[in-house]
Order: sequence, then structure tokens, then C-alpha cells
Amino acid sequence: MLTARSVQEAGLYVELHPCDCGAAGELTFSMIERDGIPVARYEGVCPACGRTRRFEFAIPAEPVPGRAYGGEQPSAIIDAGEFLWYSDRAAERAASTNPADARGRSALDGAIAALDEVLKFIPAGADAVPREVIGSELGQAVYDANPDRFTRERLNYRRGLLQDARAQG
Ligand SMILES: [Zn+2]
Repeated sequence: MLTARSVQEAGLYVELHPCDCGAAGELTFSMIERDGIPVARYEGVCPACGRTRRFEFAIPAEPVPGRAYGGEQPSAIIDAGEFLWYSDRAAERAASTNPADARGRSALDGAIAALDEVLKFIPAGADAVPREVIGSELGQAVYDANPDRFTRERLNYRRGLLQDARAQG
């Protein structure tokens, strides 16, 4: 079973892992309990190819506040490149809506929260996310397209831009 720091993180992992056939497809979410541990379960049948899909995540009993995906520790199931990819998509969604629109503000909050997760992968004393900690194909593609985006300086600069956009909403 996968270990997520929050239900939000589990949901994003599911979003990042479509069916093997490429279809996204809605999965049914339920919270169950196993051996006293809360478990988030997503399951369903792919509408495109008929495969049964299921993800299960152990979730801490103590929820994280607000839109955060987790505490200080970086994610064990989503890498820095995937978080940056998601942050970019959320920022694009926000840019395509009216800034006063609640959906736009929510997308910006998501973009900022995902960027915060990228920053957590920078080791203490370092000033950038090392490529070695990025394990997924998607994450490595995002990194290789522009490694400079993974420096603390660039990440904080982008975070500031998103926060400015959020403040205008
Ligand atoms: Zn499928």
C-alpha cells in the first residue's frame, strides 16, 4: 500500500496516474479503515478499456491544515518534477479564468501549495532540488526541460508571482 501524507496528496497521485490505456476516468473515493489505520481508496472501471483500477493509501490520522499536501517532510509518492508540472497546470487554469472567480483563486492556491512541495525536496544547505530525487518519467522530463526552474531562488520567485496574482483576486 502507498503512504500519503494527506487525502489531497492521495488524490493528486491518482490524477497523475491515469489508466495504462491513457484514459483518466473518474474513480470512486472512499475512506476505509484497516488494522486501525485510515485508508483512502479510489476504485473504478476504466470507461475506455474496461480495466479495474484501484489505489489505496495509508493516511495519517491527524489531517494537515488548509490546502497543504503534507508537513515538512517531502512526499514519498509524488516527486518534485510532478509537483512542478501540477503547479504549472493549476496556474494555467487560474490564468484562463477571471481573477475574481472562486475557481481561479482555488487553482492559484493549488499552484502555490504544489510549489511549496517542490521546495521541500531541496536538501538542507543546498540551493536546488537534485535530479537524483526525481524518480518519475514525467518529473524527469520537467526537470530536463529546464533544470534552472528547480533552484530555490527561481522557485521562490515564481511563488511570489503566484501570490501576487492571488492577492489581486
Ligand atoms: Zn483504460
